Amino acid sequence: MNIARIFPAVLWLALAAGTPAAAADAAFRQWLEALWPDAQAFGISRATFDAATRSLEPDLSLPDLDVPGRPAPQREQPEFVLRPADYLKDASLARLAGEGRKLLTEFGKTLDAIEQRFGVPPTVVLAIWGRESGFSRGYRPGNNAIRVLATQAYLGRRKDVFRQELLFALKMVEDGEVKLSEMRSSWAGAMGLTQFLPSEFYKYAVDFDGDGRRDIWNSVPDALASAAKQLAEKGWQKGQRWAYEARVPKAVDCTLADPDVKLPIAEWVRRGFAPAFDRKLSAEEQAQPASLLLPAGIYGPGFLILPNYFVLKDYNFSDLYVLFVGSLSDRILDARAFETHWAEVVQLKTGALEEMQRRLTELGYYSEKIDGKAGMKTRLALGAYQKANGLKLDCWPTAAVLDHMRGRTRGN
Ligand code: CA
Repeated sequence: MNIARIFPAVLWLALAAGTPAAAADAAFRQWLEALWPDAQAFGISRATFDAATRSLEPDLSLPDLDVPGRPAPQREQPEFVLRPADYLKDASLARLAGEGRKLLTEFGKTLDAIEQRFGVPPTVVLAIWGRESGFSRGYRPGNNAIRVLATQAYLGRRKDVFRQELLFALKMVEDGEVKLSEMRSSWAGAMGLTQFLPSEFYKYAVDFDGDGRRDIWNSVPDALASAAKQLAEKGWQKGQRWAYEARVPKAVDCTLADPDVKLPIAEWVRRGFAPAFDRKLSAEEQAQPASLLLPAGIYGPGFLILPNYFVLKDYNFSDLYVLFVGSLSDRILDARAFETHWAEVVQLKTGALEEMQRRLTELGYYSEKIDGKAGMKTRLALGAYQKANGLKLDCWPTAAVLDHMRGRTRGN
């Protein structure tokens, strides 16, 4: 049995029994000591290991911890509980785009050099910086990265992932990439201007200002080039956009909003979709295969999304994240908001969405994760259900449709 899974249980039994905190400390110390052989095999010296872990204690205030006897933490990634209109707030996009415009001038030469080398446009790397840390204005991540990663590796829901990240973080200290005292991170262990995890640092970090250090914490050229390298290696298509906003025909079949349905843009246009603001597309652009994305079903803007959309989604697995970064990158050059507005819609709570996903699974419309998130696949399955039952086809989960499903499923 994995030792990492035994000791947390010991710790919580000890706490439940009212044993002094010393017992908890002892369990955590034993867990750390069990990590040592792997750290050593990773090339980490005992001196570095001791310095990083000497006075370390788990941080129980972090989210996503799996602690027996304690209710699940409420903090969720905002991408998954907010409605598109809340996440893609026009005022935030406008403010960040304004700052991005200044930074485009200030770092123009560097950004052009980054595009030359990695093929990723200046506005896209700026938008990632803007989204990840608000251009690092007043951004002071308060967490000790080693503590965050160790806590997640010890008590988190994805222990194996964070155990590996912890080893990479210790290696960063060992290799002199960063001083222990300067290794600050977000609550999820992401570091620097564009929020890299330690393993990503080793895969993608670049010394772009040529001072011999890959400084993703303080050097704008290093951080932005590192983000560009990551996108390039995940398959960024040079010279292509991420998406085009499209005006959706009134009687749109929202079940076409399926990432697997790819048609040349010219074909979407033939079917009544028009590029927003009557944007003129070149023959080359019209030939690009694109999928339809309707983030709020029929109640908001539609997008024809290109392969680069999925490259951005690989950076952070959320459609709203991609829409934010993509729109911000556009708005740095063109201040206009989306042509189509978001209508007022009510977002079902996570529990109700989970129930809907379970019922859609029972009915054979859905085969993805039950996660309580109104993602692409969930909206698609819902649309198929609405179509088959002669309901209003809008691909947006509501209490009324859930009620309808309750009448057709055994439920749970
Ligand atoms: Ca550097």
